[in-house]
Amino acid sequence: MCGIVGVSHHKEASKIAFLGLYALQHRGEEAAGIVSYDGHDTHVLKKSGLAVDNFDEEGIRRLTGHMAIAHTRYSTTGSSNTKNIQPILVSHRRKPIAVAHNGNLTNTEELYSKLENEGSIFQTSMDSEIFVHLLAKTPNGDMAQWLIKAFSQVQGAYSLVLLLEDYLIGARDPQGFRPLCLGKLGDGYILASEGCAFDMMKAEFVREIAPGEIVIIKGNKVESVYLPEASKKANAFCVFENIYFARPDSRIFNDNIYQVRKRLGQQLAIEHPAKADFVMGIPDSGNYAALGYAQQLGLPFEMAIVRNHYIGRTFIQPTQFLREFRVRVKLNPIRDVIKGKKVVVIEDSIVRGTTSRSRIDEIREAGAKEIHMRISCPPIISPCFYGIDFPSKGELIAHNKTVKEIADFIKVDSLKFLSLEGMLSVMKEKGSFCSACFTGKYPTQIPKNTDKLKLEI
Ligand code: AMP
Repeated sequence: MCGIVGVSHHKEASKIAFLGLYALQHRGEEAAGIVSYDGHDTHVLKKSGLAVDNFDEEGIRRLTGHMAIAHTRYSTTGSSNTKNIQPILVSHRRKPIAVAHNGNLTNTEELYSKLENEGSIFQTSMDSEIFVHLLAKTPNGDMAQWLIKAFSQVQGAYSLVLLLEDYLIGARDPQGFRPLCLGKLGDGYILASEGCAFDMMKAEFVREIAPGEIVIIKGNKVESVYLPEASKKANAFCVFENIYFARPDSRIFNDNIYQVRKRLGQQLAIEHPAKADFVMGIPDSGNYAALGYAQQLGLPFEMAIVRNHYIGRTFIQPTQFLREFRVRVKLNPIRDVIKGKKVVVIEDSIVRGTTSRSRIDEIREAGAKEIHMRISCPPIISPCFYGIDFPSKGELIAHNKTVKEIADFIKVDSLKFLSLEGMLSVMKEKGSFCSACFTGKYPTQIPKNTDKLKLEI
């Protein structure tokens, strides 16, 4: 998963882009980059790790210009090395093209082979690079037609921002898997994965980019064109953005994430009430549903686990070793609150089951008498091909285990998941979601080769 930002016509475009990265850091912690354009030249800053920690003022000051795009990366194709840091910047007919992409394409192999056979030389092992090759190969007279022709060849999930000299382009795939929002700041416009980025910049939230929409921004003008596929395909917004990924202070898919998560918790309480002394969430992601659950049942809500804020999201480090280490140091249950109590523990989801198992171990060690676990989404049984790192089926605990077997593995007294219907019933855009990770029913053809490192040399 990744976060993207675009800034047009602001005298400190790269600073604004950096603020955007700061707000979107949760979408990817492996690497980050900014490309700016000053009317003559492009300037680039790319670093591994957190933008928040690794970008210094001096580095950002060197990124002069009134246009900028930025990216924060969590790899879902391509390995985690420096050549795979976005934005991708190329020169085409002596003009710069920079692109930052969120989502996974599903016809990567086909396009890659076709482009290579036609002479393309790829510099990275990310599907995102395909966009610049397609743009380079498509005759570019009229800008709108050029973009439509190039993007129409791509299938799968993409929200992207493009920097083409004085033009800032934003595009969302025809099914709208990933979010993309338009904001206004002074005389210019901003694009960002989530609305929380605009709050950080003190920009105004204008609207979401529609599925299949391409916005062409120049100065204070915004022109929209649409991919022909948009009218033929049903929306497939990623429901996991709502459950876990997006920030609670964001508005995406026409809803506020905090309120969505509380409603998920309320629905969970209706479906699976539990008798307990109090309700607690696994921070941070489980807290919102826990609050909704507690309010629905009139039970006390306790913040019984303290989060160490100096550690990022545990899943976001791509190796299992680092994941396990970070799980251990990140959260600490409060013994004085938990000891001797019957507790309901709310988690937003169970993916591999390893984090939940150690969390429950710790809550048990803190003296809980009974632990009833409730999950604010259904069991995840199928991988994601659209940008969430739900790996192979084998790594998904619910793929071949029953709820009872998962409960035994995690060692809880009871375990219940929210139903699919219950989950979708609380969403504002009810019929518009992709829930393939819960059903195995994919809204597109799935890729032939699903290896994350398929483009690696
Ligand atoms: P686990 O018990 O190991 O399945 O971890 C569950 C926690 O990790 C939940 O809060 C999940 O929402 C969160 N998580 C989110 N995305 C992922 C992912 N791609 N892989 C693993 N865990 C994830």
